[in-house]
Amino acid sequence: MDYIVELRNVRKEYRLGNQTVEALRGASLNVKAGQFLAIAGQSGSGKSTLLNLVGGMDRPTSGEIRVDGADISNLDRAGQDAYRLRKVGFVFQSFNLLHVFTAFQNVEMPLLLAGGMTAGERAKVVHQILADVGLGEKANRKPSELSGGEQQRVAIARAVVKRPPLVLADEPTANLDSRTSTVVVDLIRSLPKKYNTTIIFSTHHEPLMQIADVAVRMRDGNFVDSGAAA
Ligand code: ADP
Ligand code: MG
Repeated sequence: MDYIVELRNVRKEYRLGNQTVEALRGASLNVKAGQFLAIAGQSGSGKSTLLNLVGGMDRPTSGEIRVDGADISNLDRAGQDAYRLRKVGFVFQSFNLLHVFTAFQNVEMPLLLAGGMTAGERAKVVHQILADVGLGEKANRKPSELSGGEQQRVAIARAVVKRPPLVLADEPTANLDSRTSTVVVDLIRSLPKKYNTTIIFSTHHEPLMQIADVAVRMRDGNFVDSGAAA
């Protein structure tokens, strides 16, 4: 069986002065391509640490992380940057949009960074994706002129515009009311099929686990049922 993401006995320690915080304590996980996987767990259980490691934003203290067949556990900064550019889309709790730019420009940014497309080609792709997320009419709005749910839809469009094999969403609904959360989660749920990608999202909101293909739970830096999601 081929997995898009494989974690083997991943540990992550943070140093805080002369203290060591064990954020991940030997976590193992397999994720199949095309899956919509939820990671639930209370605040402090290690969800963000795990997603940051899988997203190539940080390195594990020990253990192995493979994504799309490649070992990313020991990449240097340049290797991490290249990995993120090619393989990963990120959706953050706080949207992280660029506030001086319009929705269109925010979604276009990853394509500009990747290079290789004309302005006309980029515009076509960006307008299509904004229409897919229901913001076709609001392409020229800035984030401050959009609701929280709309901003998160822009962020989702930005995460998938390069069609990455993996999309990571760290508590994407934590700053949204429950009705807006439902809309945003339904949209995220539609991504694997529509964009041929895999989604891992974290949440501390129990009902959201039920809409995932697979749900795993973290506690104290590990999965509660270890080796879950096989
Ligand atoms: P969650 O996302 O589930 O709330 P985190 O991954 O953010 O959990 O945190 C896991 C543990 O690691 C917590 O005890 C947290 O305080 C600690 N931690 C997270 N980031 C850092 C950091 N940069 N430095 C020190 N400790 C951290
Ligand atoms: Mg977190």
